[in-house]
Amino acid sequence: MSLCCHANHDPSCPDVPVPPEIFSNVLQDTTKCKTKKGKKKKRVAPLAINRRTNSSESDEEDNGIPSPPPVNNCYLAKCPCETHLHKQLVERNYQLSVEKLFDLIFGDNEFVRTYRSAQRIYDDHATEWTINPQSQNRERVVTSKIPFVSVLGNSTISSTEKQVIRNEKKYSYYIVDNDIYNTGVKFGDTFYVALRYCLVQTAVNHSNLRITAEVRYLKTVIGFMKNLIEKNAIAAIQVSLQDLSIIDSI
Ligand SMILES: [Zn+2]
Repeated sequence: MSLCCHANHDPSCPDVPVPPEIFSNVLQDTTKCKTKKGKKKKRVAPLAINRRTNSSESDEEDNGIPSPPPVNNCYLAKCPCETHLHKQLVERNYQLSVEKLFDLIFGDNEFVRTYRSAQRIYDDHATEWTINPQSQNRERVVTSKIPFVSVLGNSTISSTEKQVIRNEKKYSYYIVDNDIYNTGVKFGDTFYVALRYCLVQTAVNHSNLRITAEVRYLKTVIGFMKNLIEKNAIAAIQVSLQDLSIIDSI
């Protein structure tokens, strides 16, 4: 699973941002390690530990204390990409390490599960991150469903996200491409939405997230239909990304 977005919200059906309090308990259990004097140290749920092997949290010891970053940390002012996608949707700084930011967006943990559940996403399944032997990039596939409500009736949209880490350097940056294919949405067989997530560590415990997007076509589509599809698809993505602000509260 991931904290990524769906290009399948009905723009006519406004989404309600996820209330921060939903995450308060989850965040304490999964993203912070409380070691108050006299209090027994909270342990991360066994499930989370088991699944950490493919996430950045694998650097942490079982007691939840992060291992120290390497001395030769490579902080960057901006991501190493030569180009980005047409539409910039997010440009935001976080007071987090890039490893933690990556885990909050692409990890498999209770925070991500709660976030996606609050977005009404269900039947959520992510394959493990595995290395593509040809490209040597880490890849995975995320599938999920979301109810779709419109004036024409209720239905379900099925989403498949093909995620590829195009470039990564531990403690420095992660460049992740996410291609989102939807079925059950109007004209869903004619296009998909490409997203690029650029996560960069800019200083100690400071990182930057930039998300760019563009609509790509699988079939020939006439001009005015392209405009309609792009307007609605990008608007839907923007709605689903607005909840990324929840990370600010961490
Ligand atoms: Zn970039």
